[in-house]
Amino acid sequence: MASEAPNQEGWVEAKDEEALANVPVVTAQKWDGSAKVYQWNDEFGDVGPKFPDLEVELFGAPESRHEVAGLDFSRIEEIEVHQEGPRKIDPIGTFNGAGLHPVMLENVELCGYQTPTPIQKFTIPSILQGHDVIGIAQTGSGKTAAYLIPILSKLMGKAKKLAAPRPNPVTFREGIDGVCAEPLVLIVAPTRELAVQIFNEARKLCYRTMLRPCVVYGGIPVMEQINLLQKGCDILVGTPGRLVDSIQRPRVLTLRRLKHIVIDEADEMLDAGWEDDLQQILGGGEQDEGNVSFYLFSATFPKAARDLAKEYLAASHVRFRVGRAGSTTENIQQIVLQAEGHEKRDMLVKLLETNPGVRTIIFVNSRREADNLDAFLWNLGLPVTSIHSDRSQVEREAALRAFRAGTAPILVATGVTARGIDVPNVMHVINYDLPSIDHGGIEEYTHRIGRTGRIGHRGVATSLFSERDIDLASVLTRTLLETNQEIPEFLESYKPADTDRKHLKFETESDFDPNDVAGANDMGGAPAGDGSAPGWGSGEAQGEPAASGGWGASNGDAAAETGAWGSGGGDAVAADNAWGVAPDTTSKAPGGW
Ligand code: AMP
Repeated sequence: MASEAPNQEGWVEAKDEEALANVPVVTAQKWDGSAKVYQWNDEFGDVGPKFPDLEVELFGAPESRHEVAGLDFSRIEEIEVHQEGPRKIDPIGTFNGAGLHPVMLENVELCGYQTPTPIQKFTIPSILQGHDVIGIAQTGSGKTAAYLIPILSKLMGKAKKLAAPRPNPVTFREGIDGVCAEPLVLIVAPTRELAVQIFNEARKLCYRTMLRPCVVYGGIPVMEQINLLQKGCDILVGTPGRLVDSIQRPRVLTLRRLKHIVIDEADEMLDAGWEDDLQQILGGGEQDEGNVSFYLFSATFPKAARDLAKEYLAASHVRFRVGRAGSTTENIQQIVLQAEGHEKRDMLVKLLETNPGVRTIIFVNSRREADNLDAFLWNLGLPVTSIHSDRSQVEREAALRAFRAGTAPILVATGVTARGIDVPNVMHVINYDLPSIDHGGIEEYTHRIGRTGRIGHRGVATSLFSERDIDLASVLTRTLLETNQEIPEFLESYKPADTDRKHLKFETESDFDPNDVAGANDMGGAPAGDGSAPGWGSGEAQGEPAASGGWGASNGDAAAETGAWGSGGGDAVAADNAWGVAPDTTSKAPGGW
């Protein structure tokens, strides 16, 4: 029977044998941070020549670039961006009109980005004008490009003057020609996966320029990263621990040339206890005071993040917020099913059967559960992989690569490892375990389900709710109400008496006290793309639902690639289904429940 839970021990053994036979030989060079970057030759003029092979590696084959460009941005104007602070920034409408460096414009086009996302419309002019910025936006809003495009564009004309001397990569001799890395830009991110994603976006946007991106993070031998840093580094992305480690080696890295510091997913970093490391990094440079611009991006804006902002950002910074931070977008259909522990595996298999072939992330709360579930699904013949913090970094990267490529389109993950990952065509997120209140609660839920419904795509998030999740019931119900989802019967009693969806009370709303950050004495909202100042400062921002419903594209636009699905032995699943269709968003629950 498809959904009978098999003897787990036996299955685990079977997986191990097979897995051992199939483990690819992973050499040290295979870590993501060693990916190719544009090699600048001193003989180039102001702009380097094109390299078609590298172009394909960075941006994909020309015919596939429309996959991004083809997103339906027709309703993007409806997405609200709230601007806070005394200074109002006129949003840009297009990349072309933004005053970007011509090479940056070409790179944006190669990326397939046709229209700036709402947050980009505001951050691009702000950063170009020299303001410090707080962006309250989640991964998926286009926030990486929102800071990289203007920062890199500003540097493009000046790179030769500002950048530290470095060896010519064409003639570089390892161990002889190395230099101390003196980046102009530092981007700090909480997880290795997010750091790699930012690095990859930087690799694209630095194409044909002498700006050289590098990334450092734990789990990879330090020497490998030092070798790369020694070739010179202008844009450094890193996780706090490895950055501090590198700063403590003054012949490897100095921050004295820094012009821009970005703290990405600040709330996550502070949550994870990186506060001391962050202080060391931010205070550790010998750079001239007032010479560095700070940008802080965060999905939520709790007190610790506000304190950080107060300490480092100029009082005259500008602040933007896309929708209500912490709120989920309405283009994610959220389904909550009641399931006690012993029923979960059966339900999971049914869910996978009902929505076959779509890229799916299954969240669990423990490493052990991740291992067990991975083995269980693998032995049902499903193309699954998993990721958690006990895995080596090379294993984590290999799993994510397989997930991205579609060879293993089901990913079992613990929340921590998969929070910041951006895979554009994840169509289904399953909370096999809901996050407990003590471990992130509704914020974690929001982050997790945000892995689907990425820019311009619709997605489904299904959560299995057991008795153990009672503490989450109230806030989960309000979140469902706020985002116009149906409330399952077993959560009806948690509905607030006053179900005015526009004015639901959320504990995190105190995050948006406009007077709490130096310089912020005004707040208001305007639709992105609407440059008109009148009407700003409506004060309506608090508690408003994220007006992101209908971010574009139709359901099936980004289905998983079919390659390698439907492996043998899958008696439990319709293995030869047309893996590649969108999840069934019309039924509230898989058949027969
Ligand atoms: P992020 O919020 O930075 O994780 O970005 C989410 C995704 O949006 C990434 O895959 C980006 O490549 C993509 N993206 C960023 N800006 C744009 C844009 N203007 N148009 C289309 N896609 C974009």
